[in-house]
Amino acid sequence: MSSHIFADLHIDPSLHKDVDVYAVAGNPIAHSKSPLIHQQFAEQAKQVMHYGRLQPELDDFANAAKRFFFAGGKGMNVTVPFKLDAQAFANQLTQRAQLAGAVNTLWVRDGKVYGDNTDGAGLVRDLLAQGIALQGSRILLLGAGGAARGVIGPLLEQSPKCLVIANRSHEKASELVKLFANLAASKEVALEFRSLADLEHTAKTPYPFDLVISATAAGLSDESPLSAAAVANIFTPSSFAYEMVYGKTTAFMQQALQRGARISDGLGMLVEQAADAFLLWRGSELAKHIDPRAVLAKLRN
Ligand code: NDP
Repeated sequence: MSSHIFADLHIDPSLHKDVDVYAVAGNPIAHSKSPLIHQQFAEQAKQVMHYGRLQPELDDFANAAKRFFFAGGKGMNVTVPFKLDAQAFANQLTQRAQLAGAVNTLWVRDGKVYGDNTDGAGLVRDLLAQGIALQGSRILLLGAGGAARGVIGPLLEQSPKCLVIANRSHEKASELVKLFANLAASKEVALEFRSLADLEHTAKTPYPFDLVISATAAGLSDESPLSAAAVANIFTPSSFAYEMVYGKTTAFMQQALQRGARISDGLGMLVEQAADAFLLWRGSELAKHIDPRAVLAKLRN
């Protein structure tokens, strides 16, 4: 491995003294698009900053983050597998980060480390930008890991008619339903859980969904969380299938296409969650100067 590549995975803020330094931390991290995305936001908003990559050892996130901020780092995006470590690392969590149980954005202010979770807001904005009506809709969320947990609150805030969470280990889906029961009740949303097998039977899942979101890691290994029977039961041609994995047409997306449904990958969510992080760090008044949809279009080319 060349020393350049190694350095690229371990940004050191003390080597960039004249600019504010940010980074995305994950393992692996070499192929992250976040540096490209933030570089474009910085150009749009005329901000002088440097954004690099950080690849802590799997059991060493807290030390790596401590070194980064001690050396002058201003803010950090956090991705798989460190979102829980980042939550533990922060001194102060936003309400949505507390609810999400995970942190994807860190920053320092007045000697304190703040943690937020912008994944859910990013997903909602990407869906709305694609013309998907959420209010009054029937939504099925597949998965009950960190990504699913991060988006439940923002989805409920949109007042869908129902939100059904289905997961391979259905106990985890049941726990999430308990956790978000109060918020769902306050928004008058029917929040329920199912096992993946339940999705195959009209007796247990008696209606198709307007929106089916895969927040599972199945797409990474070319598997789908859905059986053929479940696909037949939950999709109609007017459904919209959203896959959080990006950069490929996953088995889940192919199943939806075969039912005549429209599809999207999760690249727009990635860009939109990054936009929120950028504004948290650099100031919300810059919102009018950045254009996440233009950044997305550029990435897709
Ligand atoms: P976790 O490891 O926390 O959770 C993984 C989830 O996927 C669990 O619900 C797990 O079920 C389920 N799962 C894994 N393999 C299968 C399978 N073969 N069949 C059915 N279910 C399966 O991961 P995250 O929640 O953090 O991330 C999930 C995905 O979302 C990742 O692919 C990630 O890249 C993507 N993501 C995209 C973002 C974006 O901006 N576009 C942002 C955040 C995440 P079980 O509980 O039974 O193990």
